[in-house]
Amino acid sequence: MTSTNDIRRSFLDYFAGQGHAKVPSAPLIPQNDPTLMFVNAGMVPFKNVFTGLESRPYTTATSSQKCVRAGGKHNDLDNVGYTARHHTFFEMLGNFSFGDYFKEQAITHAWTLLTREWGLPADKLTATVYHTDDHAFDLWRKIAGLPEERIIRIATKDNFWAMGADGPCGPCSEIFYDHGDHIWGGPPGSPEEDGDRFVEIWNLVFMQHLQEADQIVGDLPRPSIDTGMGLERIAAVMQGVHDNYDTDTFKALIAESVALTGTAAEGEARASHRVIADHMRASGFLVADGVLPANEGRGYVLRRIMRRAMRHAHLLGAKDPLMHRLVGGLVAQMGAAFPELARAQSLIETTLEQEETRFRRTLANGLRLLDEATADMGEGDTLAGETAFKLYDTYGFPYDLTEDALRAQGLSVDRVGFDTAMAEQKRAARAAWKGSGEKASDELWYDLAEEAGATEFVGYAAEEGEGQVI
Ligand code: ATP
Ligand code: MG
Ligand code: MG
Ligand code: MG
Repeated sequence: MTSTNDIRRSFLDYFAGQGHAKVPSAPLIPQNDPTLMFVNAGMVPFKNVFTGLESRPYTTATSSQKCVRAGGKHNDLDNVGYTARHHTFFEMLGNFSFGDYFKEQAITHAWTLLTREWGLPADKLTATVYHTDDHAFDLWRKIAGLPEERIIRIATKDNFWAMGADGPCGPCSEIFYDHGDHIWGGPPGSPEEDGDRFVEIWNLVFMQHLQEADQIVGDLPRPSIDTGMGLERIAAVMQGVHDNYDTDTFKALIAESVALTGTAAEGEARASHRVIADHMRASGFLVADGVLPANEGRGYVLRRIMRRAMRHAHLLGAKDPLMHRLVGGLVAQMGAAFPELARAQSLIETTLEQEETRFRRTLANGLRLLDEATADMGEGDTLAGETAFKLYDTYGFPYDLTEDALRAQGLSVDRVGFDTAMAEQKRAARAAWKGSGEKASDELWYDLAEEAGATEFVGYAAEEGEGQVI
């Protein structure tokens, strides 16, 4: 079996052998884009190179970039544990051309690596193209010899990429792997495309136009290439399993939480083990890159990820904090490729243990309140916004944790009611201040902002730039 670590190395070596500079992953906190919460695609660290603002001593590059998609425009948090292919933290393998090679070479590289170097069966691969991109369609015929019915024209934004309202943009081509008809799902563009049978493994973006105010105004003088392939997804394919969570890395992490909780990863517990493994990994990488749990901004995204997993640990019957005991296994799997993870191991463990100790003080009581509030509810019912707010405010339940907790019963939460309750609390806090007649100190302001700060990330996410879609 080819390990995930071998696959990463093999990808980077292939492109280095084709003259690409090997570029280490950038940290998860964007260095050049204050509008973006986390790096969520391989191209993010290269944005200024694509636009020409920055120059580098190379025109082609390859990387395996750490990505987090747990907030803002790309939010896969709700998918984790429930689809075979989504993580909050994942690695995006990529090859990039900054005005060097273009469409034909990009498709040739992708096809050569997948089918010749790695020996994947060509008849399991399907490509999509943007509906007007005849050139890409013809190249898939010519280079890969794909039959016409396996080159699917897609007219939606899924196959058109833009850095933002202004800047480079262009069509893209996605490569899908067919895991077989024993799995539910259909080819891209079909009504069943969200199933897990046809899994998108690689997205090739052809940056060729320039747009202003969302309108194409011309062609780039030197078109560029940006590609992204999920390492965990290609690992599943190459390890002959259908599911990312059955790859070597995740099998090892899940085996540890099974051993520590004594609960098998079956039935309802299956999703819990997956969420714990995924979220522990994301938390570890975020802490290693300097994010600590907090009540706003990036730190609140981290807290949401951690606490969500901690509820699942509780569901599995964990009597004591669990998450920190899994970190050693993560370092064993990934510490060689990411030395920052090994360096931060004790900080990650302490942070997780403190957070879990703290959250466990209110978790059981919060869950009891939730049980009482939903006792008479049935599928399709909605939990009152004030109850979700009380859970947030008194018991430290992030909004999405409450949503996740109700998911199995088919219940939802009244988001508008929750926001109203939050706004009311802020208004009351402000009124109380004015009433006191005292000048508020910075410290008081800070405390209140902390207390009420949980909505901050929503506003932040709404303003998030468009540049992160690969
Ligand atoms: P999907 O449609 O499956 O959600 P996507 O179109 O959002 O994927 P892209 O933005 O094109 O994904 O990212 C490039 C590649 O990164 C994808 O082809 C996939 O292999 C991988 N990828 C994207 N999101 C995730 C995720 N949440 N977890 C693991 N891999 C991912
Ligand atoms: Mg997606
Ligand atoms: Mg997609
Ligand atoms: Mg895609």
